[in-house]
Amino acid sequence: MPQSPSSEVRKKLETLRNRFRDKTIREIEGLVASIFNASRHPEAIEELIAAYQLLHRLAGSAGTLGFTQLGEQARKLEIAIKPLADQVAAGAESERIRLQLKQFLGAGYEKDIVGLGNLLGAAEPVSTVWHQPRPVEADDQAVLLILEPEQELAELILKGLALYGYRLRSLSNGQEWPDNMDDVDLVMVRDTLLEDENAHWLPRLHDRPVICFSQAHEFATRYRLACLGVDACLDEPQDIPALADRVEQLLAEGLATLTGRVMIVDDDSELLEHYRLVLTSGGMEVRALNDPSRLLSELSEFRPDILLMDVQMGQYDGPVLARMLRFQAEWLSLPIIFFSSEEDRDLQLDVLARGGDDFVTKPVSDEFLLRTARIRCYRARQLGKLVSLDSLTGLLKHALAKTELNREYARCNRNGHDSVVAMLDLDHFKQVNDSYGHGTGDMVIKALANLLRHRLRNTDIIGRYGGEEFVVVLPGCSLDKAVEVLEALSQDFARLVFNGGSEDFSVSFSAGVAALKGYESGEQAIEAADRALYQRKRAGRNGVTAASGDLS
Ligand code: GH3
Ligand code: MG
Ligand code: MG
Repeated sequence: MPQSPSSEVRKKLETLRNRFRDKTIREIEGLVASIFNASRHPEAIEELIAAYQLLHRLAGSAGTLGFTQLGEQARKLEIAIKPLADQVAAGAESERIRLQLKQFLGAGYEKDIVGLGNLLGAAEPVSTVWHQPRPVEADDQAVLLILEPEQELAELILKGLALYGYRLRSLSNGQEWPDNMDDVDLVMVRDTLLEDENAHWLPRLHDRPVICFSQAHEFATRYRLACLGVDACLDEPQDIPALADRVEQLLAEGLATLTGRVMIVDDDSELLEHYRLVLTSGGMEVRALNDPSRLLSELSEFRPDILLMDVQMGQYDGPVLARMLRFQAEWLSLPIIFFSSEEDRDLQLDVLARGGDDFVTKPVSDEFLLRTARIRCYRARQLGKLVSLDSLTGLLKHALAKTELNREYARCNRNGHDSVVAMLDLDHFKQVNDSYGHGTGDMVIKALANLLRHRLRNTDIIGRYGGEEFVVVLPGCSLDKAVEVLEALSQDFARLVFNGGSEDFSVSFSAGVAALKGYESGEQAIEAADRALYQRKRAGRNGVTAASGDLS
């Protein structure tokens, strides 16, 4: 939701801005002196190059630090003076350039150059409001708000989603939305409530995920819903597992973007600090690097999701650094985004060809910076997950789950705490597929995955072991406690109602658990849990059995 940066961040941004102003006043004085010097003495013509570089730098940084007018004016002068600076660099005759410069100043640019310093008096206020998702604590239960006029349906959804461990609120329409409900993480709303475009509460839908209950499939209606900020449309909200799945996905997107790790490299220290403050106050983890020569070691240590980098950094060239990074396989897929004040499309394409992924044109607004970084981090993480996570459930794949189990086995042996491994298997699942189709079967698998993810702790390890089989590792948990937790889960799962087309149905699961400490290896503990699972299957399914000899 939109929030102002905290007063502390604002103060820091203010300080930064003052520092930039003080430094820039002196730099502009130097710039004016250089240009006039060059216009009078051909032997001073070289000074034009430094003047051009300063204008180029201001064009990129002043706007970001709040001096938009100065940035724009610097850009205009930069473009105008470039042909002269290019001639100097190419070694053209000094006197000829000097005469052109005099002409240039006479054509009105003199006033602009002298007036540059005055523009430092005009800064925008720091109080920009930027999009800031509320931090969700690791084990915090998400709050869902339902706006559904039909009472019976609202009740059904409330009950169904409560099984997943969400906290729920319900209103029959948006008019009643009280002011103290700002902790809502996601809204579900009936489409008819969105018909009045002027309703005062509609803006509250922005900046949090919205699921709309709507049977309308026409393009115009759906387009209008999308305009209102709706993220998902569901025909049948009474299908609780499908609804919970969508809720889960939307909330996960919010969380993923919140925890992105960003590394920024820029040689301009005020700009760097400004970026760092904005991204940090937006909830990102940031490592700011002023000295590009430390890039490799800092990357290895910080392991960011994305890298933001300036194009020109003193003696270092951003695109060359990008190419150098790609020498190493581990940085091949690291997204690199350049800050560039170059509007030259050709140069940008060239940079892309040399190993960069994208550009942000300077000056960059705080809001834009934060959004770009969030989206990039999110995509980077999604890609990373494709490799290690099961595509249907988003849980760890078999091999990775096993690795994690072995790690926990080593940890609990080292530290002496109790940990448990559980194997879960859906009961009579073949019948589900046979009766309702494979697609519906998939939905059941996903529903169990979502339930596990929600109800277990963040530190628990959950993997999809095989088709309809799951493995769960509960670190720091006794066997008794694990049995209790899984019993409760199995009872709640069996209460979920699935939509099978012609009829509704329910599914149960069986589980076997084993304490890691009782075995020689993680592998053996899994085998014991598996044997306990099959005992449970033989004893009537739908429940939990502990591996024999483990129960204290
Ligand atoms: P039990 O209670 O003894 O576990 O019976 P069951 O029918 O669940 O066991 P069985 O191992 O005979 O059948 C498992 C079924 O799970 C067979 C397989 O087609 C189905 N299955 C495995 N992976 C998937 C999947 O990804 N999606 C769907 N829809 N079905 C799957
Ligand atoms: Mg099975
Ligand atoms: Mg089964």
